[in-house]
Amino acid sequence: MRLLFVFVDGLGLGKEEPGNPFVGTETPGLAKVIDGKRLTLNAIGNVGGRASLFGLDATLGVTGLPQSATGQASIFTGVNAPDFLGSHLNGFPETRLRSLLSRKGLFRQLKKMGYNVIFANAYRPPFFKMLRRGLPGKRYSCSTLVTYYGGLPFYGLEDIKEGRALYMDITNDILLRMGFGLPLITPEEGARRLLAISKNYDFCLFEYFLSDLAGHMADKFEAARVITILDRFISTLSEQIDPAETMLIVSSDHGNIEDLSGRDHTYNQVPALLVGDSELRCALGSELKDLTDLLPAICKGLAWKKSCC
Ligand SMILES: [Zn+2]
Repeated sequence: MRLLFVFVDGLGLGKEEPGNPFVGTETPGLAKVIDGKRLTLNAIGNVGGRASLFGLDATLGVTGLPQSATGQASIFTGVNAPDFLGSHLNGFPETRLRSLLSRKGLFRQLKKMGYNVIFANAYRPPFFKMLRRGLPGKRYSCSTLVTYYGGLPFYGLEDIKEGRALYMDITNDILLRMGFGLPLITPEEGARRLLAISKNYDFCLFEYFLSDLAGHMADKFEAARVITILDRFISTLSEQIDPAETMLIVSSDHGNIEDLSGRDHTYNQVPALLVGDSELRCALGSELKDLTDLLPAICKGLAWKKSCC
């Protein structure tokens, strides 16, 4: 089985109340995926014909608000990173987390198991200048670090043109505003491109983080814009995957955008939205309790091909 993992930063499952932009924003695409429901707390446990939605604990038993560096490290290594560090860590991994990511990063682990893997995000030219110096400094996200430690290539803007990668905003809107000559694409086209990329690999990761930024801005208009893009993107992926070949997993590191009453992350559970084969969804769902369960679920999903075909 191929796996396509869409990691959405700062996306929790909040209450159905006015401060939750998933209540105030129309999400017709997601409603089709999760049987007419909104992507909120109330949809946890929904098992439908196409998708299952589970809630994952992002606090991992450690006091304090869940944060990006430790949350993502937990997802991408399967290790309880805030417990390992003694606290949740915001922003970018420091020395100890980098060491953990270098030893246990998912790309390194999956490659050792013989899987063909890709991080499908494209980077802008300044990144490649820094990369030539070997990732010094501290300001790299977990996804960049696990890609680096996994020995995978990084994709640039040319690769977007050639359909080998996608920019982190899905549509190229940010690149256009920065003066890069790339065509604006729809979220639906972005989904089709990502799906086409994923068909060449056993495991494909794509990261979207404007959701976390919208949450930190507590800006309801930006939140609605981001949610509309995600609605169109995720629903197109869901409609177009072949469940016999691919499973889509959408998940996050902590809540944020679902509660605009403040600018902080939240304690809410995060989604593990599985789209694809119903038996596999059932097998994986029973083991998905917190962020550290995602990597074992990915491994189990990839091995599903071997056991059933
Ligand atoms: Zn954040």
